[in-house]
Amino acid sequence: MAATVHVCSQSQLPQCTPAVRAAQPAAATSSTLPSCTVTARPSGLHRRSVLAPAQPRRRAASLTAPVVAAAAASSAGASSAADLEVDVCILGAGIIGLCTALTLLRADPGLRVALLDRQVPCSGATGAGQGYLWLAHRDVGSPLFQLAAESRAMWRELLAPAVPELTTAAVEWQEVGSMLLSSTADEAAGLAARCQALAAEGLAAQLLTAAEARRREPALQLPAQGAALLLPSDLQVNGRATAAALLRACEAHSGRFTALFEEGALRLAAGESGRVDQVQTQARRVRARRSIVVALGAWSGAFLADQLADVRWAGAFRPRRGLLLEMTAPAGMPAVSHGLMEVSYTSHYSRQAIAGGKGAQGKGDGDSEEGIDITFTATTSASGSLLVGSSREFAGYSRDAPEHIVSAIMQRAAHFLPALAAVRWQDISVRAGPRPFATAGGPTVSPVPGVEGLLVAAGHEGSGLTMAPATAELVAAYLLDQPSRLDERVVEALRCPFGLSIEDYLSM
Ligand SMILES: Cc1cc2nc3c(=O)[nH]c(=O)nc-3n(C[C@H](O)[C@H](O)[C@H](O)COP(=O)(O)OP(=O)(O)OC[C@H]3O[C@@H](n4cnc5c(N)ncnc54)[C@H](O)[C@@H]3O)c2cc1C
Repeated sequence: MAATVHVCSQSQLPQCTPAVRAAQPAAATSSTLPSCTVTARPSGLHRRSVLAPAQPRRRAASLTAPVVAAAAASSAGASSAADLEVDVCILGAGIIGLCTALTLLRADPGLRVALLDRQVPCSGATGAGQGYLWLAHRDVGSPLFQLAAESRAMWRELLAPAVPELTTAAVEWQEVGSMLLSSTADEAAGLAARCQALAAEGLAAQLLTAAEARRREPALQLPAQGAALLLPSDLQVNGRATAAALLRACEAHSGRFTALFEEGALRLAAGESGRVDQVQTQARRVRARRSIVVALGAWSGAFLADQLADVRWAGAFRPRRGLLLEMTAPAGMPAVSHGLMEVSYTSHYSRQAIAGGKGAQGKGDGDSEEGIDITFTATTSASGSLLVGSSREFAGYSRDAPEHIVSAIMQRAAHFLPALAAVRWQDISVRAGPRPFATAGGPTVSPVPGVEGLLVAAGHEGSGLTMAPATAELVAAYLLDQPSRLDERVVEALRCPFGLSIEDYLSM
């Protein structure tokens, strides 16, 4: 089928910028969340000026605190009235930071928590996320499958109906199931094996022929040799609604929670004991008696590399731009009732894909035609709009929405949902966000070795919305010195560094 897409210039793409509050350090509220879906705009979010002054980088073999301690000495000035003292300071108000803040507030009624973001919540990858919390596309038996499964169970607990700020309605929880789609006989065989593995885990997976899949999803078109794997228990949320609800739930812990938005972490500093316990922002010094948690998504690697003067961090996490398109389905097109995803998505976390990404695009600050991956996904939001994804590429921190990528996403989508060929270009909104890609293949949730007081929770790539509650639970377990509810194998897999040797990092 020849898919056609109406193409127009970049300037015709709808433009808008997330709502930006006046730059002042007062605590913000959930009403400051970006309210617009379109984040296509020039790059420049990651300017060096907002990070610590350039530190001489060294190819250190150990992660130790002296560089941070030296920064403390140089930045030690008179304290200001705006200075703040808390137990935990979380850097980054994406889904990981927000979920961690709420989990800590609930876990210990004595804890005071500050959440810091140089913009507002959802300014990073979280604002672009599609919102599926799925198991179907993960490798059954892997630590990341287990992490996702445990995390999903924790989402249900977080959304206890007794908490008015954080309900299933507030996050637009939809138990609609997922369908993984194959177009070839080979892929269909892979789906059959996946179906068996999921069933062995006790999940009610079902393999459908192309005709059966179309009966359940009339807008869908698969070749006769294609198939679909239906997993009815898969579900989805609205990522931005979820972030807003988490922020409201944090704010309900008044007196113990401080949100500092439009206030970036400039540098970390250590106290006399050598423990890293201070964050310097433009407006104040935040002292964290217990810990500082780095949850800066794709920015985590650059931030830690600068602060710890350790180049390994810069290679550990990198931005992988993703575009997601939002539109109204064309008149006459049957509504997409399940979450849909082509099966090739499953390869994104393979070793080969990771190595290919590194090889094709250098160190993540370039872009190349052959390095752009387009994989079809589709979900229908609670409000009825159609979300169609998505692209993956190493394009630095750019939030641009290049026309040819938008066009390629639409063409790929029309291969599976032919009616989409009729969508008018001006009816497409684009979300762009930097997925926090982890070179090691999965997130790191762990104390930073050799740096007392510092934890990192980053690198969730395309799974942060799914994995946020389990990530937060593990951070809380470390901080409160309690056993984690996560399986020990999962905890190990998330430890830092994640599966790569020092030599691997240094050779990047
Ligand atoms: C197109 C797309 C679709 C996706 N779909 C899904 C999906 O369906 N399901 C799923 O589970 N996941 C999905 N993801 C992935 C998910 O969105 C991410 O894994 C997740 O949002 C990462 O959250 P985070 O909190 O780690 O980072 P982010 O959301 O990027 O947050 C990091 C924050 O740090 C702030 N920051 C940066 N530097 C500083 C500084 N120096 N000081 C203070 N603050 C700073 C930024 O402003 C930002 O708000 C998708 C991602 C994309 C791009």
